[in-house]
Amino acid sequence: MNSDYTGRAGSSPRSITILGATGSIGAQALDVVRRSHGRLAVRALAAKGSVEALASQVEEFAPAKVAVADAGAATELERRLRTALGEGAPEVLAGEAAVSALAAEPETDVVLNALVGSAGLKPSLAALEAGRILALANKESLVMAGPLVMAAARERGTLVPVDSEHSSLFRCVRCQASRGVRAVTLTASGGAFRDWPLERMNEVTPEMALRHPVWNMGRRVTVDSATMMNKALEVIEAQHLFELDASNVRVVVHRQAYVHGLVELADGTLLAHIGPPDMRIPIAYALNYPADPDPLGEAPDLAALGSLQFEEPDPRRFPCLELGYRAAGEGGTSPAVLNAADEVAVEAFLGGRIAFTEIAELARRVMDESGVEDLESPEQVFEADARARATARRLIGE
Ligand code: MG
Repeated sequence: MNSDYTGRAGSSPRSITILGATGSIGAQALDVVRRSHGRLAVRALAAKGSVEALASQVEEFAPAKVAVADAGAATELERRLRTALGEGAPEVLAGEAAVSALAAEPETDVVLNALVGSAGLKPSLAALEAGRILALANKESLVMAGPLVMAAARERGTLVPVDSEHSSLFRCVRCQASRGVRAVTLTASGGAFRDWPLERMNEVTPEMALRHPVWNMGRRVTVDSATMMNKALEVIEAQHLFELDASNVRVVVHRQAYVHGLVELADGTLLAHIGPPDMRIPIAYALNYPADPDPLGEAPDLAALGSLQFEEPDPRRFPCLELGYRAAGEGGTSPAVLNAADEVAVEAFLGGRIAFTEIAELARRVMDESGVEDLESPEQVFEADARARATARRLIGE
């Protein structure tokens, strides 16, 4: 636990660094800061390159520093902010290493990592190794290098998950002596094609896949929800976060998305966390951790909801789920391979080069060809990631 915690009412504001500020999670995090009555303040922002969006965030939240991974975009942003704010412009840093450096700054209390994809791993490790509280929305950090990230969290920093299911599980586990936790259940909305005829799954177009029934998210995670690869990666995430064998991480389809996670206790009972499907809730929880966040709305009215339904996920409809359990069981570099293959496959699907049903097929073939190595360093993870991407591209014929 971070001992210089300063988030309590009446003290100076808690300082927040947001990596991936211009994406969907970043924008919702800034809304949480906006509604925090001055308890949260933005120390630094980082993004890949969206100059326009970053410039307006800087004008509203006045961070001391900004990092932009793309060097050209950094120059453009700096020029723009100088013109608009003169001497009041924040320092602008360029390059991926600058993003990791921001994550390790001692002036920051909490680092929200909402970067997309494998680019999130190094900043996650940097934040934890520097003893920061890491609010983790980048699931690839745990999927690719779960044992390394958890070791850094145990030794130095504090890890609070932001993925909605894992946030709910984390809160339930905190209510309980951890030895009493036997298994966890992640809920899944079932994505856009939960009722689509099975024999027509190969006709699914990118446009159809990008319409999610419950959550409003980025492009890759929306397609990953439709294939349930997102849930497959979340199984791996949960396995590390809660130190469970993958067979004790279960998935159940729950269309209403009000129950986000359930924890099974040693006495055979379940603790469930129920809340509206609003990502600002897990974000606010992590940004304020371990203090209570400000209210964002009313608790769900159960009588108005009427009923809550749960179903077994259909393995024929969602073959990606089995690949997640396979990778979780194999461990080592296997989850990084699965993640890399999926990133390439989703891009190819969105570009119209492969069919929807070929996403799982491609991921499976890349796993078959890649083999599994024990995990030792982040560099090795990136090598396995690069090899898996090359294999995936070769199999597609790119
Ligand atoms: Mg999730």
